Amino acid sequence: MLLFRPLFMTLVALGLVSCQMSSTGIGRSTYGDRAGPKGFNTVVIDAGHGGKDSGAHVRGLMEKTLALDISKRLRSELQPGFKVIMMRSDDRFIELDHRAYHASQYGNAVLVSIHLNYGRRSTSGPETFYWRKDSYALAKRVQLQLSAVIPNESGNAGLVRRRLRLTRNPTIPCILVECGYLTNAREAARLSTSAYRERLAEAIARAIRDQSYRGDAGMGPLPRPIYAPPSRAGDARG
Ligand SMILES: [Zn+2]
Repeated sequence: MLLFRPLFMTLVALGLVSCQMSSTGIGRSTYGDRAGPKGFNTVVIDAGHGGKDSGAHVRGLMEKTLALDISKRLRSELQPGFKVIMMRSDDRFIELDHRAYHASQYGNAVLVSIHLNYGRRSTSGPETFYWRKDSYALAKRVQLQLSAVIPNESGNAGLVRRRLRLTRNPTIPCILVECGYLTNAREAARLSTSAYRERLAEAIARAIRDQSYRGDAGMGPLPRPIYAPPSRAGDARG
């Protein structure tokens, strides 16, 4: 669940970040026109929310808890082939800006942020968010792999190009994965089982390995670059 978006939009409305929204080319990011990663050996896994921020909370299922569980399973799937950095390994709150900053400390790496979704009761299935050209193929691979193991998709947005702080600011390719809707009764029931969460982790790991082995190959034309400067600290949190 993208809790930070409404606040961000509120700040945009207040004019606090309007100068950051321009795409005139001023302040172009160095990674705006970069191809996707190939041969990377490090994966930064960001379990969404944590501590005082529970994320979505539906019928006893808490997003922060499920996200951490899937993140730990993903770590197990990726090791020892990859060096894995966990943004958090327990139930603690981490500021969004710190997550972006921390991820940027690693070279030859990608950032994968794990979330669970919240929406209409009829909506189910995975959604994967990216913003930058260098993150497109990884996002597409994750979305395809998750779609292959998640039954009964309905009304979800699929692969989404959206500027979030975690899809724009890190210096490494970065995506945000919504592993399913807690608000859909059937999907929530599946997500409550460890076997299903393991399947999700396996699917995300397959996508990450494919991206490292193949780079952008096979994922079709890359989207046009969008030059937008990283947001300043405090853009979305005042
Ligand atoms: Zn979330």
